[in-house]
Amino acid sequence: MRLPPPTLPLFLLVFLLAVLASSCGGPAGYRPDQRPQTLYYGTPYPSRSSPPGYQQPAYPQQNYRQPVQQTTLGGNNSRPSITAAFIRKGSFGRKRQRFMQPRYITIHSTQNYDSASDAAAHARLLQKGALTARGNSLGYLTWHFTVDERSIYQSLPENEQGQHADYEGPGNRISIGIEMCENRGNSRSRTLDRTAQLTAHLLKKHGIPLSNVVPHQHWRRIRYSDGRDLGHKNCPHFLMDNNGRPGAQWARFIAQIRRYL
Ligand SMILES: [Zn+2]
Repeated sequence: MRLPPPTLPLFLLVFLLAVLASSCGGPAGYRPDQRPQTLYYGTPYPSRSSPPGYQQPAYPQQNYRQPVQQTTLGGNNSRPSITAAFIRKGSFGRKRQRFMQPRYITIHSTQNYDSASDAAAHARLLQKGALTARGNSLGYLTWHFTVDERSIYQSLPENEQGQHADYEGPGNRISIGIEMCENRGNSRSRTLDRTAQLTAHLLKKHGIPLSNVVPHQHWRRIRYSDGRDLGHKNCPHFLMDNNGRPGAQWARFIAQIRRYL
């Protein structure tokens, strides 16, 4: 069929727009915590049910349904508060729930420098199931708390496993994951201080020793999808000033937590 002359450029324009739209992967403005080789957008990796021999422990009866709830750390109004913004039970990163007794606290940073990517924005991404991760067994990235200079959002109950550290390793099975925001304009020192207060609160609440506060870098990552050893991640990168390992900055952060214990 011969197209009349004005239709052809219009057709090309529509085609070009379609190509452009399809090439923009991932949620708008999101730069994931994980490096590209460990993060997959697209179809979630098919999750398999619990590993052989795994028995789901009796799930504690707690009400996590409140959409937003403020809890003040230490019951003192001058202390930061936690905004509960849980991923809906049974959906996205909570479509499978695994009980855990937290024994460690794992500290991350988002490496997401978009100015709008504060704690609330990350909590919304988790609630929308926007952070898919094909390489892990769940198909999504999940963690417990996101902290910025003025707020703390909680996305997972502290007794549920997340997918933030080391696939099926202990970093996910027995640790609470905290992400520190790095959005442009956000104060790093205030974020660190708020994270230190939150960490101290969690240590006391769960009877975890300070020595079990670790950077993400602590955990060796064996990718679930193909068993590849991805080694240790330089995260949170701004506290790993000893060639990608804990050094003086990390020691300073631990001392900051100790002051709140
Ligand atoms: Zn991390």
